Amino acid sequence: MSIPIYSFNSVDLSMDRLNELIVVCDIDNTIFYTRSFKTYAYFYKLVKSNFPNNSEDLIYADSSRLFNENRKDSYHTNPVATDLIGFLRLLDRIREIGGKIIYLTARPKSSASFTKTQFESIGLYYDDSNTHYTNNTIHKGDYLNEILEIDRMTPIIFIDDLDENLNNVLQTYPNSKCYKFIYDNPNINNPK
Ligand SMILES: [Mg+2]
Repeated sequence: MSIPIYSFNSVDLSMDRLNELIVVCDIDNTIFYTRSFKTYAYFYKLVKSNFPNNSEDLIYADSSRLFNENRKDSYHTNPVATDLIGFLRLLDRIREIGGKIIYLTARPKSSASFTKTQFESIGLYYDDSNTHYTNNTIHKGDYLNEILEIDRMTPIIFIDDLDENLNNVLQTYPNSKCYKFIYDNPNINNPK
């Protein structure tokens, strides 16, 4: 089970083998959001409510296309931090215990330069070497396991806003501690 949190101050870093701790953190709708960014679920609901008789395949294709177009646009938008003070404090706490932070996003690698600009626009340091892009082609837990080859015994704290990602990481790393970041934002996830 993942633990719901509304601030990064609620992330409890205490774990076994603390000196090997890796904190894996999502970007969109976790660290920051862009006003134009909407989740896949948003477009799915929108298409489904407008074309209730279309096949699931067609609804999937339409919502994927809309999601990808919107996602590209949102890279050019200045982001708004969800909890900058809490996040900076979390980075300090990780540093104090000698742990490591990894950013893991479903964005494509081609968004790296926008991502850097967005990090810096809210005062966060961007480092390409600890920022990873799955391009939505591999689950996050599988990415950590297969691409980064992080041992299953490594203490991992994972922070994300989507259940799908949290569940996959928990499945791959049963000993990990997973936090669901909840940001009550009227601009996302609420199709009108
Ligand atoms: Mg996210």
